[in-house]
Amino acid sequence: MTLAEALHTAQSRLREAGIDDAGLEAEVLLRHALDLDRAQLYARLHEGLDETHRADFQRLINRRVAHEPTAYIVGHKEFYGIDLEVTPDALVPRPETELLVDEALRVAPDGPCAIADVGTGCGAIAVALATRLPQAVIYAIDDSERALALAARNVERFGLTSHFRLLRGDLLDPLPEAVDLIVTNLPYVKTRDWEALPPEIREHEPRAALDSGPNGTEALERLLRVAPSYLRPKGRLLAEIAWDEGELLVEVARECFPRARVTIEKDLAGLDRILMIQT
Ligand code: GLN
Repeated sequence: MTLAEALHTAQSRLREAGIDDAGLEAEVLLRHALDLDRAQLYARLHEGLDETHRADFQRLINRRVAHEPTAYIVGHKEFYGIDLEVTPDALVPRPETELLVDEALRVAPDGPCAIADVGTGCGAIAVALATRLPQAVIYAIDDSERALALAARNVERFGLTSHFRLLRGDLLDPLPEAVDLIVTNLPYVKTRDWEALPPEIREHEPRAALDSGPNGTEALERLLRVAPSYLRPKGRLLAEIAWDEGELLVEVARECFPRARVTIEKDLAGLDRILMIQT
């Protein structure tokens, strides 16, 4: 069997399992099994696939057919142009969260500053910010010890350890000082929406990183109530939100920060995506 034939068979299996982009997914998994980049794979499409690699590839395809996210199978995911380690201990970084990084970079102070990333997970937002803000001290907070260990590996992977303090605890509790910028992608899925999520999310990603109670806004509302005392003058808070939670969160934000400018930024699809508070 050639690589091209193996790809073709795998693609049909993925398609039958209802996986979108079956061709691309099959290719990513074959490249992972053979440890090849794209160009190398294409150069070898008509070569034979040996028995060991065929079995390895088969196992990867079986996992994907069982709806395990590709990022967990291959163990990494690109976010904001950087390649991060990912494991089921934290959410897979989503492309829409890149907007949060864009906005944070737009409002972050130029020189030395302190930033807190609340619910850092694998550290995607924090690491992306740190690579572009060399003078920032970043507090990456999570209540999951396993997520923090993963974040620590990602921080180390980019040589950023000296810029980081990894802190375990609830929301801002472990933060030792006020900061200039708080960024967060806390859980915002409503409990009643949980069962309707795709199996990739529902059966494989950590529920604690997604489900935030009946309104979906519980975690962020709790954060907004404690945040004022952790922000320096001219401080900013940016949070990723669900498309239908903006109105309620603006109200809570105005109550907690009566003198601040509170706005909602839309994503590329025109949906409410980011709550921004500028004190
Ligand atoms: N965007 C994620 C999803 O659709 C939710 C992320 C979150 O809860 N913070 O699954």
